[in-house]
Parts: sequence; C-alpha cells; structure tokens
Amino acid sequence: MNRVRNEWMSQTVAGMKTRLMVGLEVHVELATRSKMFTGAPNVAHPDYDDAGPNTLLDPVVLGMPGVLPVVNERAVEFSMRVGLALGCEIAEYTKWDRKSYYYPDLPKNYQISQYDLPLCGAGEFELPLTDEVDGPTKPIRIIRAHLEEDAGKLLHEAPGGVAIDHSIVDLNRSGTPLLEIVTEPDFDHAEQVVRFGRMLRDICRHLGVSQGVMQMGHMRFEPNINVVIEREGEEYRTPVVEIKNLNSFKAVYGAIEHERVRQVEEWLESGRVMGRGAKSTRGWDDARGVTTHQREKEDAHDYRYFPDPDLVPLRVSRQWVDRVREEMTELPQERLKRYRVECKLDDKQARQIVDEPETCALFDRVLQENVAPSRAAAVLLNYGAKRANERGVAIHELTVTPKQIAEIVRLAQADKISSSGADELFRLCCDSANAEQSAEMLAQEHGLLQVSDTGSLEAYVDEVLADANNAKVI
Ligand code: MN
Repeated sequence: MNRVRNEWMSQTVAGMKTRLMVGLEVHVELATRSKMFTGAPNVAHPDYDDAGPNTLLDPVVLGMPGVLPVVNERAVEFSMRVGLALGCEIAEYTKWDRKSYYYPDLPKNYQISQYDLPLCGAGEFELPLTDEVDGPTKPIRIIRAHLEEDAGKLLHEAPGGVAIDHSIVDLNRSGTPLLEIVTEPDFDHAEQVVRFGRMLRDICRHLGVSQGVMQMGHMRFEPNINVVIEREGEEYRTPVVEIKNLNSFKAVYGAIEHERVRQVEEWLESGRVMGRGAKSTRGWDDARGVTTHQREKEDAHDYRYFPDPDLVPLRVSRQWVDRVREEMTELPQERLKRYRVECKLDDKQARQIVDEPETCALFDRVLQENVAPSRAAAVLLNYGAKRANERGVAIHELTVTPKQIAEIVRLAQADKISSSGADELFRLCCDSANAEQSAEMLAQEHGLLQVSDTGSLEAYVDEVLADANNAKVI
C-alpha cells in the first residue's frame, strides 16, 4: 500500500517554500430520537427536523432549577460506532464535565461536555488521496472524539428574513447530542481536508448516526490552520488561526486556501510567529471569499472546566464495545471497494449506489437473488432513479421489491424484454399494490414480453407470407 506522509515544503507562496498544516475539529449532530441528557425530541432526528421554533423543549433543556440530566445510551453507542470507524481507542472509563460560558443560546450557562477523559481516545484513519481502489492513502491521526450537547440558535432576523431590531433564540437545538472529533494537524492540502470531511459524512450516514445534511448544520467544520515557511535555511511557523463553524465543503476549501496565502503575507508584514497567545479565531465570508478576524482565542481555562456533579462517570465494558462493533454496518469505503472489485461495477455506478446507504441495502438485497451485479446496478440506476425522480422520493422508497428488480434483470438479460419494456415494467412494479406480484406475470399481462427466438419469428413470417392477401402486396 502506498502510504503518503507529509509533503515537505512543496508549495510556493510569495516566492518562498511553504507547507500548510491543518488540524480539524468536526461537530456531528447525532440523530437519536431524544436529546443528550433528557427525553425531549431531538431536532437532528428526521422525524423532528421541521419542528416549529421552541417546540422541542422541557425543563432540562431550559436549564430549570432542580432538574437532573440523564445520559442517552444510544448517543453513547452512536459515538462509539464513529470512534471505531476512525480507529479510535474506546475508553473504559469516561466522565462528564461542565464547560462554562455565558451566551443567550445556553440557558444553563454551561455546556455538558467531556474534558480530560473523552469517550473515544486516540486513533488513526487511512485517508484515500484519490478515487482509485487501493490508491495512495495518508494516515490522519485522531486525537479524540468526545460527546457533548449542542447549544440553541440565536437569530438576528425573524423567520422568513424579516428584519428585527433585537435578537431571538430558538432552543430546539439545545441539548442535541453532539460528537466532537479532533484531528492532529496532519492535512497539508485543503483538498485532503475536504476528502476527509466527505468521508466522515459518508461514514456517519452509513452507520446511521447522523443525517449529515450540511445545510441543516448536522456537521460543522472548524479547521485550525497555519503555515510553515522556509527562508534562507530558517523555518518559521505562522500563528494558528481557527475558522469557526463552516457548514459546506466549498467553505472549508475556500477558507483554507485563503489562509494559506494570507498568513504568509501577514508574516512578511508583521514577522509574528506561532507561540502563546498568538492564536486567533476568524470567520468565513462566503460572499467575498475571504476570512475575517473575530477574536483572540480563549485558552482552555477560560471555560472553567470541572466534573459535572449531576452525572456519574460511565464505565464502558469490553462486551459493550464488542456488541456495538458487531452491530456496525459495512463502512462506505469497504462497500465501494466490494462493488468495484467483487461486483465489477464501474466507478460511477458504485459511487452512485454508495452515495445513499438505503440504496446500498436495496442493491445488496437484489444481489441476494443471484443476478449479475452490473446489470442489477444498471436497472436500479436507470429505471429506478428515473421513477424515484418522477415521484420525488429516494430509490429505496419505491414500492418495487428486490425480487421484482431481479426478475426484470433476468428478463432483460435473456432478451425477453426490450429496454423500453423493462423501463415500463419497472414502473408497473412500482405501481402494483401487490408486492407478491411477479414481474414476469405483469410483463405478460401488459404484452411487454418480446419474441427474440429466430425460429418462432421465421415461422410467423412464413405464416404471414402464406396469407394470399399479403402475398399480393409483396
Ligand atoms: Mn465542542
């Protein structure tokens, strides 16, 4: 396997050799049914994501006096799945800490998080650097992945974009389980960061732990960026800049690329290098394509972390970890490889299927009917995608059964049906209320079966020619 380490000083900025260093913090909203420390519905769960503002609340979410948090076991298991997928060590003993800060979207004035004993510890993830199967990879070291709760949302305009002269708060998101993943600064290209982000999103969706809809804030990225510069044999490191809350891959790419050049220019002007107190926070201006200064970064002690006295530490037995590991579905990168290598699908087909975890499940059920995988993929991605598109649903939501799809594949393979006939048959299967209905019977009923046996065709032609009236025409 071709494992790529860091590229040393390969990028030139302002005529100097430089190397970009990026570490990543990712917040993933977990799609459990209830919130992290209470039974109130979770806005990151598909059933509640269109709930009206401030409707998913209870006394715990509002931080009322006397309430007590209770850990959501499912959220812990979801986090363990992601931790295992990233090669992290799962802690045997983990605890909860209060991270104190004052902000109107945080009624308790502290966030329950994990400070020194996170649920998922160090790990390493092999990041593929290209789309090839068994192409070059780069090890990305994971520092930790800890569990915490999300804060509410402060809005500066009313719903529908109506201007207001004050701010309003929606606490639906308050208390949503949040997994924070932190990497070492092992990325040296913006493209690698985007690749990792996309893979992480795929992993979370395949593991069923997050909807991963970027526009809805299910995943937020915060790259920590600085640049190593070489000049006249000396090496300089620019101060680390953290970019807050990026929720699109375009923004992640743009912000990193902008910093890669901006930091070198700033260093040329000020000579300021990395060191204590030299860390700052910037935001991304999507419209202008630049980062803008927000504030000098707080040090960890500003948050006054201390163990939450309302929550007991969690002991994680090895049996529990083993059970979670056994329940995990095949990871998207393994699936992609299986479809490409074992099923011999082309890259585009394989990616289209892997793009949607539920489509993978449907495709695998079709394969269990022992049909040629490439033909099954073609039927699913041509006729299935077309019907799904017409009806505004996902492919797996169509009422066609894996058995029917397999029948269509076999009919097409045996030339018993034309491609337009197969397309029509797929539609008939989707419309049929009876899931037991055989696709071949449907094809028969609707006259979609074609005769391709030359013997019977010739006999038919002879019969027509033998007809005295037809003979005259000729
Ligand atoms: Mn966090």
